[in-house]
Parts: sequence; C-alpha cells; structure tokens
Amino acid sequence: MQFFSTRNAGSRVSAAQAIVQGLSSEGGLFVPESFPQADLKTACEKASYAELAAYVLGLVLPGYPQEFVAEATEKTYGEAFQGKAGYLRPVNKDLYSLELWHGPTCAFKDYALQIMPKLLVKGKELLGRSELTYILVATSGDTGKAALAGYQDVPGVKIAVFYPSHGTSQVQRLQMTTQQGDNVAVYAVKGNFDDAQTGVKKVFADQELGRQLAEQNVCLSSANSINWGRLAPQIVYYFAAYRQLLEQGRIQMGDAVDFCVPTGNFGDILAGYYAKRMGLPVGRLVCASNRNNVLTEFLKTGHYDARRTFYRTTSPSMDILVSSNLERLLYHMCEDTEKVSGWMEELRTQGHYQVDAQCLEKIQEIFSAGCTDDEQAAEEISAMFQDNQYLCDPHTAVAFCVAQEYKNETSSGAPMVVLSTASPFKFPGDVLKALGQLVPEDEFEAMRQLAAHTNVPAPQALASLQGQPERFDREIEPEQIREIAKIL
Ligand SMILES: *Cc1c(COP(=O)(O)O)cnc(C)c1O
Repeated sequence: MQFFSTRNAGSRVSAAQAIVQGLSSEGGLFVPESFPQADLKTACEKASYAELAAYVLGLVLPGYPQEFVAEATEKTYGEAFQGKAGYLRPVNKDLYSLELWHGPTCAFKDYALQIMPKLLVKGKELLGRSELTYILVATSGDTGKAALAGYQDVPGVKIAVFYPSHGTSQVQRLQMTTQQGDNVAVYAVKGNFDDAQTGVKKVFADQELGRQLAEQNVCLSSANSINWGRLAPQIVYYFAAYRQLLEQGRIQMGDAVDFCVPTGNFGDILAGYYAKRMGLPVGRLVCASNRNNVLTEFLKTGHYDARRTFYRTTSPSMDILVSSNLERLLYHMCEDTEKVSGWMEELRTQGHYQVDAQCLEKIQEIFSAGCTDDEQAAEEISAMFQDNQYLCDPHTAVAFCVAQEYKNETSSGAPMVVLSTASPFKFPGDVLKALGQLVPEDEFEAMRQLAAHTNVPAPQALASLQGQPERFDREIEPEQIREIAKIL
C-alpha cells in the first residue's frame, strides 16, 4: 500500500515518505491508496493497548519493520499513559467516555505525538536521509505541548511551535512556555489559530524558502494532524474502545458502535472513519462542534463556508474555521483529485465551496453532526457531574451534548462512545464555573479548588507547572513565521 496526494493521484509515496514530508508538494494531504483490513477477532484478543497498537499500526505503516513498530508502541503506550491507554469508562446506560487524556500532556494528542517522533526518525533512516528536520507547528493549544513533549531532544530534529496569543488557557500556555529541551522554541502569534495555521502553511508552500533551507541540509516538516503519522495512531483507540465493550459484555462481535467526537481539524474523527474502512463495526460518526459550527453546516448541507465570525469559546482546541483534514474525507467520498483541488481552490480564493449531491449523500451515510454553545456545554459539565459523578472538560462536554441530542433524535440502540479529549484540569476555571463555583483569578488556585470540590485529583503534570520558569515570551506577527523558519 502506498500513499498519494488528495490533489494529485499521479505520484505515489511510501508511508515513511508521507511521514517525513508531511504535506505533498502541491499542498494536498497524503491518503492511503487502499484500506488494509484488520481482523477484528485478532485485534480484540490483543492483551494490551501496546500490542493492539502494534497490530493496527503495522497495517497502516507498510514498509516500517514490524519489530520496530512493536518496540515503538511498547515504549510509547506503556508507562507514559499510566496503564490507562485507551481507557473506556461507562458513564450511564448507553453512554461511554473514552478517556484519552492519561498521557504526559493530558490531551488525546499524546497518542499520536508520543510515537510520531519515533516514526519520523525511523522513516528518515529507511529513506537514507540525514538532513535536519525542522518541524513547524501551528497550535490552538494542545498540539503544541504534545508535540514539544514528543520531540524534545530527539536527534536530527528541531521544533518551533506557534500559538495564538489570545487563544489558549493559562495552563496550556505555561505547558508550552516552560518546555525543556535544546531543540525547541515557542512563539505567541498575534491573531487567532487560523492566522497561525495560515502563516505556517504559507511557509510550507514557499518553494524559494524550501530551496534555501535544502542548501543548508534542512527540511521542513509538520506535526499537525495533516501528517499521516498523526492520524494513524489515532485509529487504534477506536479498536480499543470496541475491545472493551466486548470484554464488558455490552456488545457481541460484529455489533455496531457509535462514536461522537469533539472536532476541530477533523483529524480525530477521520481516524474513526479509517477504523471503519479497516473493518471495525463503526455505526455512526457524530461530529461535535462548538459555536464555530462550520462543520455542522457542511455535514448537513454540503456547503463549506469559512466566511463567518470566528468565536473564542471555552473549547479552544475546536475554535477552527478551516478544518484541514476534511480534505481527506472529501477525497475518499468522491475519489476525484481534480474535484478536491477545485473545492480547495474555491475555499482559498472565495472562502467557501459546495460539494455535489452525490458526495454529500455518501458523507451523510456515515456522519452526523451537531453543535452547542458555551452555555450548554457548561450546563452539561454540571449535569454530568451531578447525575453521573463524572467530571469532564469543556471539549468533552460539547461532545456529550451533541451525543445525547443525537440519541434523542434517533432510535439507535448502539452504545455511544464519546471521545474525551482533554483532562478537565486543563481548563479548571471554566469547569469550576460550570459547577457553580466562584472562580479565582489564578488557574492553579482554580485547579486546587476543583480538586477539592469534586474529590478528583489534578494530574501531577499540570499541578506542577506552577512556579516553573517560562523560557519563551516572544510575540510575533503571522508574517514573521517565515523569518523564523529561515533563521533556524
Ligand atoms: C485537538 C483537540 C480537539 C480536536 O481534534 P481534531 O483532530 O483537530 O478534530 C478536540 N479536543 C481537544 C481537547 C483537542 O486538543
């Protein structure tokens, strides 16, 4: 199995090339040319998350030696996830929470970003490449820290992270600005996430800059979820959820399971689609958005319209207007790179596009969508805690709202698994407020009060940030990202 660009099916690349390169040269995203089939029984018999990951990743990373994959998954998903990798927690009758925040940075992005550095280093070795890889990351909060933690002091790699100056929580910012390592840098970018992301994308598309860097034996790469190495590891926990439902006797082999995913760049939910294509009995994939509901509208009407007000919400990792990975879904729905190129060009030049009826119909066979505002999400946090003694963060709360709305509207008897993407202690102020408590100004005080009020301990990785020296305090304009990429 090889990979090709969503905008040009002409040239094929290996998994290692797709990961080392990140984005294809004409701006498209790499997609697999076919979907290897997982044997469900084999997958569900794996004894640990690491073994399951070795099996699933082995299928979607052709060319990587299986012993390497097994060793990398063992190293990644063992200790660092506190024995809770892919942990599925029953919430009430048909509703489950797939807790994906027991990793080192307390967000689901650890699943991919803890293993991606290993895939990159091995990929370079497989391709016989010795250049310095310079990773540029635009982040709305969680990706930045997870990438920094994953790439810290990885040989042959340097990483720069760009976050919107007014788009992250205090905890998220501190997680990044206190990052250790000799190969890391962190910048605040004036504007919102899309400004930062657009700035980074421009640098990747700048061929002149690419040539200059190549002369210095430097190659740019990305850790954003447009990289295949980010998507592939996320396929695993859909299987892990299924396996646990089987173990708990909630389903029989082959029964369908619905998933509701709090969505921003469409990477996490797309991994669920890939799991389905690989043979996992995924019923419905429900896409949950906050007030930035561009995806809700698109999945309901086929009209993607980024010409709208950008809202800052209490779920900042979903504050996105241009959802990059949707391009991959569009390709899989129509299997026509020219169509996809056309839509992406319309998006770039006019800010919107409309897909054809056939494409929309295919999307709606699999996906549902819903959105909710901050107020409803806050009510959900409170209701979840009171009714189910379950504490969740604002991103997860958005998904719980949408999941329950979906359940009320349909008669699906299938279990509904909500992907819980961040620890509530990453957003202690908003969570405390949702629980009806007064919110202290300082986020660490809020963390302590949240722990005291709920009797749930704060993760050590977050509580210990307090008082750590900040290493990075530079604020830049989006246009300056290019200079930074150039200087190294
Ligand atoms: C990144 C993130 C999301 C959105 O995931 P996408 O793959 O971008 O759709 C949701 N919740 C949290 C907490 C995140 O960090």
